[in-house]
Amino acid sequence: MSGDRPSPASGAPLADTFGRTHRDLRISLTDRCSLRCTYCMPADGVPWLAKDTLLTTDELVRVARVAVEAGVDSIRLTGGEPLLRPDVVDVVARLSALSGPAGAPELSLTTNALRLPELAVPLREAGLERVNISLDTLRADRFLSLTRRDRLDDTLDGIAAALAAGLAPVKINTVAMRGVNDDEIVDLARFAAERGLHLRFIEQMPLDAGHTWRREEMVTADEILAVLRAEWTLTELDGRGAAPAQTWLLDDGPASVGVIASVTRPFCGDCDRLRLTADGQVRACLFAREETDLRAVLRSGGSDAEIDAAIRRCLLGKKAGHDIDDPSFLQPTRPMSAIGG
Ligand code: SAM
Ligand code: SF4
Repeated sequence: MSGDRPSPASGAPLADTFGRTHRDLRISLTDRCSLRCTYCMPADGVPWLAKDTLLTTDELVRVARVAVEAGVDSIRLTGGEPLLRPDVVDVVARLSALSGPAGAPELSLTTNALRLPELAVPLREAGLERVNISLDTLRADRFLSLTRRDRLDDTLDGIAAALAAGLAPVKINTVAMRGVNDDEIVDLARFAAERGLHLRFIEQMPLDAGHTWRREEMVTADEILAVLRAEWTLTELDGRGAAPAQTWLLDDGPASVGVIASVTRPFCGDCDRLRLTADGQVRACLFAREETDLRAVLRSGGSDAEIDAAIRRCLLGKKAGHDIDDPSFLQPTRPMSAIGG
């Protein structure tokens, strides 16, 4: 079977025209979600992808294998809400058995945590190493208005389950929003510091399905840092590499806080990420307006070499940066939940 043959380009770096090598693959396991965060999805959700367009587990593991053989050493599962995929534990087990020039890929997952109480241990046992959990508020009424679901306690139980299962470090993603949760910046940082969680504040990006993002309503990294500086002495840590977050120690540590300044301090020059959507499209950037149809390659009997070639073709179209701050910026047609955040 062609799917079992190693790709001829195995080991050659997944490069773009700007000399960036791609080692980090984000796979969206589903576009569906159990929450409706205002900055991501409208109350009624979005038109879901048709079932027959979703990659099967065999298909997505095959793409991941070809990518790992081409040098991908880190895979993050996302969505939508990845834990809604019924066979997520099996997906993790199969991905953790892959091996490339750099050995087995590091496996992580971004989640709203609602299903972690029952899944944290099985996922850990299947080979998942780390989780990033989204938490934007510690107040139940706000959680309800922000996510349109009354599930703060379930999220907190999910965080506790991740810690207990040893999915370390447990990172927390917090989108800072003016007039919504910017008065909780210190409370959230303290909550994380007290529990050994690594919190990262994220600048809100224009990726919502409703296209409601306004530059002036976004809380900037500088504003977040000013609030934190009023409470703690911040010491910036070096060694960020291709990671999107810049990290600061709170007082003398060990607690730290990260800031992902995607809009005001873009890190595109160091980007090593590529994305596979749940319906089998490869994207070179969250903000790309072009996709490469891998599902068609897979379903027309394409060989591993053809999958590899399609991924490389996609990367050749990768732009130098996303230009969110440029007046000519156009939001991608697909929302974050469909692309895979
Ligand atoms: N459902 C999972 C979750 O919420 O963690 C995974 C998918 S979600 C799209 C991935 C991450 O993207 C979350 O941390 C979420 O807060 C973030 N996100 C979603 N929309 C965003 C936006 N418009 N700007 C910045 N971050 C956003
Ligand atoms: Fe769902 Fe995550 Fe989007 Fe919130 S941010 S609606 S949890 S996909």
